[in-house]
Amino acid sequence: MSASNDNTAKAAPRKWRPETNLVHGGTIRSNFGETSEALFLTQGFVYESAEECEARFSGAHPGFLYSRFSNPTIAMFEQRMCALEGAESARATATGMAAVTTALMGQLRAGDHIVAAKALFGSCRYVCEDHLPRYGVACTLVDGTDLDQWRDAVRPNTKAFFLESPTNPTLEVIDIAAVANIAHDAGATLTVDNVFATPLWQSPLELGADCVVYSATKHIDGQGRCLGGVILASEAFIQANVHQLIRQTGPSLSPFNAWVLLKGLETLGVRVQRQTETAGKISDALDKHPKLERLIYPGRADHPQAAVIKRQMRAGSTLIAFDIAGGKEAAFRFQNALQLVKISNNLGDAKSIITHPATTTHQRLKPEQRLEMGVTDGLVRFSAGLEHVDDLIEDILTALDAA
Ligand SMILES: *Cc1c(COP(=O)(O)O)cnc(C)c1O
Repeated sequence: MSASNDNTAKAAPRKWRPETNLVHGGTIRSNFGETSEALFLTQGFVYESAEECEARFSGAHPGFLYSRFSNPTIAMFEQRMCALEGAESARATATGMAAVTTALMGQLRAGDHIVAAKALFGSCRYVCEDHLPRYGVACTLVDGTDLDQWRDAVRPNTKAFFLESPTNPTLEVIDIAAVANIAHDAGATLTVDNVFATPLWQSPLELGADCVVYSATKHIDGQGRCLGGVILASEAFIQANVHQLIRQTGPSLSPFNAWVLLKGLETLGVRVQRQTETAGKISDALDKHPKLERLIYPGRADHPQAAVIKRQMRAGSTLIAFDIAGGKEAAFRFQNALQLVKISNNLGDAKSIITHPATTTHQRLKPEQRLEMGVTDGLVRFSAGLEHVDDLIEDILTALDAA
């Protein structure tokens, strides 16, 4: 059994299209020739001899050592993600937040400075604003859509830029190529949290980013089962910043969850395609609705960053954000009147989900910080599932009447 893609064993590696990589990328077959990816639920590995064991540890002999940092099922997930993302190297993590924290802490030292877009997932904002400063890393938060703010935030010790695009929950889109240029001019790296776009609709590494992180909990699992995360970058970046930190500190993915995520990847293409079409149709049905004060959907011509979206994304999004007139009370009446769409704080699931960010994911922030990010009391975030679109439209329009 080898750790290489089974296609490469027979012929020169071919560059498959994303839909094909989702099904076959990174597959390692054992000598039983199983069709489906095997689940190697093992902590460690045994060796033929003490000499072989020594050679494995020195790196002279390839093979797996210990599942905190090497396991065949996890390797399949990492290699499939590499094929999909066009990355040289990947490390899987237990959660999306483990991926974000490891990717950032691995790059930064006491005395360094990070610049991040302020429209971040609540926990990502905590890592930048509260956690990193404890270790002597200064943080500046900027309006990610304003390139001058990125430029003005640079200091002599700026080492890393971090952003999410589209952002959670207001679906702002940041010009990744432009921010990457500013970062590189300053001698810094750019890390992009690509959860909302998915690997299908946006490729940050191609746009100039140095590192991409995912919460695999979202679309990659996509069926509400397990948590996971992944960090993708060049081999040099992973070796310099990520490899030892994961190996020695252990924020690792379990083989079982890697197996679930591999099966999730097999259907990611069809799910995200369908969820994006559904979100587009729902945003059309909500257009100019009298109960809405704002409707944000990255696939619409009236999106504030429509030009950037056209340049850097292959399609809109599986998410829509809208502001219901009447603030929190109206938003709560709307959520409580939904019969099909579930109230939850997840996204990218087969089941459609509604979230009220001000009282959930962004509750920790001060009211003025929320407003600065566009997280108003009437704002809800809708994640399109796999239900029939007409059932969803009926459910949402009926509940809006009740709001
Ligand atoms: C959910 C999410 C995370 C965190 O992922 P977990 O798997 O829940 O730890 C990070 N970034 C974004 C944009 C997310 O939506």
